[in-house]
Amino acid sequence: MEDKILEVKGLKKYFNMGKDSTLQAVNDVSFHVNRGETFGLVGESGCGKSTIGRTIMGLYHKTDGEVIFDNENVHELKKKEQFEFHQKMQMIFQDPYASLNPRSTVREVISEPMEIHGLYKTKKELLNRVYELLEEVGLNRDHANRYPHEFSGGQRQRIGIARALALNPDFIIADEPISALDVSVQAQVVNLMKQLKEDKGLTFLFIAHDLSMVKQFSDRIGVMYLGNLVELTESSELYEKPLHPYTQALLSAIPIPDPDIEEKRERIILQGELPSPINPPSGCVFRTRCPMAMEVCSQVRPVWQEVEQKHFVACHLYDKSLKDKTPLRDQPEIAPL
Ligand code: SF4
Repeated sequence: MEDKILEVKGLKKYFNMGKDSTLQAVNDVSFHVNRGETFGLVGESGCGKSTIGRTIMGLYHKTDGEVIFDNENVHELKKKEQFEFHQKMQMIFQDPYASLNPRSTVREVISEPMEIHGLYKTKKELLNRVYELLEEVGLNRDHANRYPHEFSGGQRQRIGIARALALNPDFIIADEPISALDVSVQAQVVNLMKQLKEDKGLTFLFIAHDLSMVKQFSDRIGVMYLGNLVELTESSELYEKPLHPYTQALLSAIPIPDPDIEEKRERIILQGELPSPINPPSGCVFRTRCPMAMEVCSQVRPVWQEVEQKHFVACHLYDKSLKDKTPLRDQPEIAPL
């Protein structure tokens, strides 16, 4: 039996761009996150995944739909309830430098949320908790009186994680937490988050564009394209049996560590640019780049359906009532590396 801590139902987030134009950043997205799991949200930059994270946090007003966290509607919380909500849900940001106040010491950065929420009565208790948090993220108490610029990118992200942990949250939204880091440091930060998840029983929404890192950390994964969720399933299933043509193309771009298999790897090349979310294609939003696109794809938006157990996809290829599935293009374009 699933224990849903977060439910996102038909969420839309549009931005008014003036002159009667609207940017459809998130368009009718639904998914849930179970307590204690890591749900990965992947897709190219500009696909709306960070906007979802911010709308869940209540940093953006929603345009439509619902976000239910711990049985409460996030966008209908009263002031006091919002305060409690932000204690339970915290965010780790992409750019660890921009998200840390350069004029504050590490101690001030980490203790600020605890002071606002009045968690400790004495300065000594508060300082001890700062030391404890620094140690939990692989730093030490000597770092407390230094400033963010004195640290490397990976260390700064560790400070960001310590700050996110300060209020003992249940749920963390990690918004591209490793994108700004060197490749050598990315795995260390992912391993730290994994460890903290185990130790503290945390639930994560992990937003990223690097599919290989997402695989390492996520139990289930949702794939986004141009504001739409196009596929969702368990992590291993997604990598072994991707159904949506966009997921197949994304996965074909990941290098394989085994040199024999890597040599034979073929990459699906997507044609064209990512369309603008101000003027998305009719029908299926992926149809302008999809190697399998059919006539119906420009006319009808594919329905989100469970095509195999716990494997959801939005694509006409899996529509059983559709008889003619002839692609408009000859063959998917596949290139050897
Ligand atoms: Fe491609 Fe059509 Fe499926 Fe969209 S619905 S992914 S265009 S085959």
